[in-house]
Amino acid sequence: MDCIEFNGKINAYLKDELTDEELNEFLLHLRSCPKCNEELEINYIVSEGIERLDRKKADYNLSAAYEKAKDDSRRYIAGRKSMIRLSYVVGTVMFWMLGITVFVFFRILILGS
Ligand SMILES: [Zn+2]
Repeated sequence: MDCIEFNGKINAYLKDELTDEELNEFLLHLRSCPKCNEELEINYIVSEGIERLDRKKADYNLSAAYEKAKDDSRRYIAGRKSMIRLSYVVGTVMFWMLGITVFVFFRILILGS
């Protein structure tokens, strides 16, 4: 993902509308690009600030909230990645169990009991 693409996805990120894959690439770019980090922080503070004003919580530390939001996104993606790894492991185990079941089935069939 480049800076132009990143900028195009800021709104979707703030609205929590990115797919897991998009979010992953978004965070990877964010980590390596201070310019985009700054851009996102400004957008985050503006949009959160307006929202919190509506809820009369304007005294909040928005920079800290921004850092927390990024941490939450990273944790979410890390969680998704370990879920994907886990489902791969489970899939592999199920594949072998099925294979063993088929093997045992045919052994019994051929040996007669
Ligand atoms: Zn960038």
